[in-house]
Amino acid sequence: MLNGIPRLFLPAAGVGTIVLGAALLGIFSRPFQSFAESWPANAILLGLLIVYPSLSRASVWVAAFTAFLLAGYVTGDDTLTNVWLTAANMAGVGTGYVLYQCVDAEQRRMDHPLAILYLLAICGGAAMAAALVGSGLSTLFFGRSIWIRFWVWFTSELNRYVILLPVCFALQDWAKDRRAAAWWRWPSARTWRKLPPLASLGVSVILSILVGGPGAIAFPVPALLWCALTYSILPMSLMILLLNQTMIGLMMSGLIVIPSAYNYIDSTMSFRLGLTLLVLGPLTVTTIMARQRSLIAQLNHALSRDSLTNTLARRAYLDQTEILLRRSMPGPFAGVALLMLDLDRFKQINDRCGHFAGDMALVAAAKAITGTLRETDLIGRLGGEEFAITLFDITPHEAGLLAERLRLAVEESEIVTDEGTILRATISIGLVHGYDLKGQALRRLLAAADAALYMAKAQGRNRVVRFDATMEGAGDGAEATARPGRL
Ligand code: GH3
Ligand code: MG
Ligand code: MG
Repeated sequence: MLNGIPRLFLPAAGVGTIVLGAALLGIFSRPFQSFAESWPANAILLGLLIVYPSLSRASVWVAAFTAFLLAGYVTGDDTLTNVWLTAANMAGVGTGYVLYQCVDAEQRRMDHPLAILYLLAICGGAAMAAALVGSGLSTLFFGRSIWIRFWVWFTSELNRYVILLPVCFALQDWAKDRRAAAWWRWPSARTWRKLPPLASLGVSVILSILVGGPGAIAFPVPALLWCALTYSILPMSLMILLLNQTMIGLMMSGLIVIPSAYNYIDSTMSFRLGLTLLVLGPLTVTTIMARQRSLIAQLNHALSRDSLTNTLARRAYLDQTEILLRRSMPGPFAGVALLMLDLDRFKQINDRCGHFAGDMALVAAAKAITGTLRETDLIGRLGGEEFAITLFDITPHEAGLLAERLRLAVEESEIVTDEGTILRATISIGLVHGYDLKGQALRRLLAAADAALYMAKAQGRNRVVRFDATMEGAGDGAEATARPGRL
């Protein structure tokens, strides 16, 4: 019971603390008698609820509500203002959350081409709800018409949601990505080469300051598009966040000069809305690029894999082995081993139990083999029931032991057919080990391993045979490491 309590309240306490921190940050950024210039709390709360759907429970909503109230109380808002502002904040987040739930799960993924338009609709709805509730409040904003209050509220809320939500979504995708674990690595030379688009963004901001005028807001567009074509969603959404804050800061400090025909409120609203809508284009380009990259990766994966056994397809295996053989090894190199594997009397399995059972046997054998290999080893299906394996940086002795383990793994695996028949398959393995990997190395190694496999079949199957120079001369140049025979 005691264990259950912290688990129950931890999410609520966590969200409450985050909202309180973000709200205090916002309140302290309030200029005299005005609204907060920076109010990330609502967008962060909505982002959390979307990224972690399990958080959407009564205790978390109550914690968020309390955190808003507490922030207002700590900073001295009177009760009416405090409750009203909190109601506006919660109305915005609640509406955004409901709208998000209405969008089809597939279409609200950040790499869906329509995602940014949906994002705008969700953010627009959330901002509208907050503005409708909040703009009735006059104590903080006296002297302005309700219409102006509504627009100021709406544009600032919209800006925060549109700028912050992509960061939340991208962070979620990033956390799922295995590469995220290496985020602290010092940037490689390739990373430095990717810097020019970011630099051009900086130059465009400087131009906005130097040239000024109504067009200044759009100066970063070409650089943003270049960035969108170069970077993935997380860096791009962080860049947009930074650009947004920089541009608003520059505008408010008067460094970007806006025509004096506008008063402060009108120009702030117009600038903020323009900036919000302006980033939608580059964000859309980023998501389309992300989609394209993921489709190409899927296509490459499909092309490089054998669909039945999930080992490498023939072409991919040969290409990847070629690349491996060309790689220079730092320090002492133990050599490379190439194994040619073939299922024994596989035709009989097909004939006795049917082609489907044969497929199952093939999959089971591939699974047993793959489960025995090291992560760095390459395995490919060369065709039919024949596989090739490349073991890099391995001694002749280690290669022999691994080959024997592979043979045993297949021998010991059972395949139960749909009819309940238990099938057992065995494999024969031809093994060759070599050090000289230059020139026609792969062709020679394959021919040598094939010759050894032929010998394994001739000697009675279910065995490992090493290539020997006496075998048909098929493997000229491959180094013979043992005489043929049972290991
Ligand atoms: P050996 O021990 O000499 O290798 O005998 P074997 O019967 O395995 O040799 P053979 O090469 O004559 O037969 C291979 C059989 O594998 C023929 C073919 O029908 C079958 N085969 C090839 N690809 C597949 C496949 O994807 N699925 C199934 N079920 N059978 C396949
Ligand atoms: Mg066979
Ligand atoms: Mg065969």
